[in-house]
This record gives sequence, C-alpha cells and structure tokens, in this order.
Amino acid sequence: MKVESLDQLLQEELRDIYDAEKQLVKALPKMAKAASSEELREALNEHLEVTKGQVERLEQVFETLGTKAKSKSCAGMKGLIEEGEEIIGQDATDELKDAAIIGAAQRVEHYEIAAYGIVWTFAERLGNDEVAELLQETLTEEEEADERLTEISESLLDAVGVSEQAEEEDEGAVIGDEEEESIRAEQPKTRRSSGS
Ligand code: FE
Ligand code: ZN
Ligand code: FE
Repeated sequence: MKVESLDQLLQEELRDIYDAEKQLVKALPKMAKAASSEELREALNEHLEVTKGQVERLEQVFETLGTKAKSKSCAGMKGLIEEGEEIIGQDATDELKDAAIIGAAQRVEHYEIAAYGIVWTFAERLGNDEVAELLQETLTEEEEADERLTEISESLLDAVGVSEQAEEEDEGAVIGDEEEESIRAEQPKTRRSSGS
C-alpha cells in the first residue's frame, strides 16, 4: 500500500506502536520476574498495568480515527525485547543484573517516547486534538516510567559502589546488610557518579 497522506502515515505508525505495546505486555512479566530488587519488580509490574491501559488507549485512538485497530509487526520492539531476554539470561550479581534490566527497560521506554512523540506531532498537524490528547497521556506515562527507572538505577548503583569500596578495605569479605548500611553512611555523597 502506498502511503499518500499524513493521515495514512499516522495510521501506519499507530499500527506499529499497537504491536509494540502488545509485545511489551508479554515481555514485562518476564523482566519483572528476573528482577531481584523489590522496588524494580514493583515498578515493572506497575508499568505492565499501565501498558495494558496504553493498548486500550490505542484502541480508543483507532476508534476516534474511524479505523479498525490493526497491528503491524514492530521489529524495533522485537529487537529490544530480544536484548532484554539476553540480559535476563546473563550471569551477573543481583544488583548488576538489575541495573542491566533497567538499561533494557529504559531502551524500551525511550523507543516508545520517540514513537509517541512522532504520532503526537502527526495528530497535531492533522488538527486532531482528541487523538493528540490521548497520545500525550501515554507519552507522559512513558516519561514517568523512564524517570522512575533512573531513580531505581541510581540507588542500585549506589549499593554497587559501596561493595566495591568495601572490597578495597576488606579483601574477599562477604558484606552483610548491616555492615553495608554503615559503610554507606560513611560514604560522602559526592562519590556518586554525576552521569544520568
Ligand atoms: Fe508503552
Ligand atoms: Zn516499530
Ligand atoms: Fe512503556
């Protein structure tokens, strides 16, 4: 099918995103299950519920456009999920695996943020405020998910930094939770990486 109007292009893009969200509904439970951090697991499970809502919101978008909700295989999301599965299968310490899972999840969120930004722009251009508003709602949810993942990642990385310092101080010792807490308290905040 030749795409000849912005209206058509919007529909094509929406079909891609519709498929992407449905793929994610299947993938998120596996990522949540692989997470060791309770906070991360909770965040991923919560985003699963949000994502189910996003699938429904897209159906609402299709309805508003007067077209059938159809999906078109999203190769981008498929690749991102494959990478996520590789990470889940990787042999790593709990905290580092969690940090890697967050990395995979944030790649997904950024992909979605780009995709929703594009369709939002198209809807705006077409003067379809109703659709633009629906897409904006999802865009905001994806941005919130991304921010929450950054926060969880930062606290996980703080914990990893603590273990590394402890190794220097006490070679080969296994660090218990209590000891870790006291070391953490001694650590100046400025040792934290400033990268996001
Ligand atoms: Fe989504
Ligand atoms: Zn895609
Ligand atoms: Fe998402």
